[in-house]
Amino acid sequence: MNDHTNSRYVGGCSCGKLRYVSEAPPDEVGYCHCRICQRTSAAPVMAFASFPVAMHRYTKGPPHVFRSSPHGTREFCNDCGTQIAYREAHDAKTLDVNAMTLDDPTLVTPQYHIWCTSQLPWFEVSDNLPRYPRNKP
Ligand SMILES: [Zn+2]
Ligand SMILES: [Zn+2]
Repeated sequence: MNDHTNSRYVGGCSCGKLRYVSEAPPDEVGYCHCRICQRTSAAPVMAFASFPVAMHRYTKGPPHVFRSSPHGTREFCNDCGTQIAYREAHDAKTLDVNAMTLDDPTLVTPQYHIWCTSQLPWFEVSDNLPRYPRNKP
């Protein structure tokens, strides 16, 4: 999906208590406008990179885990509050890492928008990426 196939994707929280590495590039990168991402990130939209779970590990941690819905959990630092990732509750194949926690967020580029039904009316997006009202079909 990009030219960084040999890169190691490293990142962490704001205070440095949590650090992670993904040894493979993300399967997908997108924007999520759902209310749960908005609330847990305290931002209008979350840019996420879905890394294969088997290739992702914490090198400093572990994270604090919060059950944000019946569908999954959020992993975050309970010192500085940075949300690192979303993980499906059942049989997760990927870990949706908050792309802004990468040391170099330019390594990934969003490809679509999901949950646009809750996109904020004052948050204008001028890209031509696909937009889905709910999850990606
Ligand atoms: Zn922290
Ligand atoms: Zn979301």
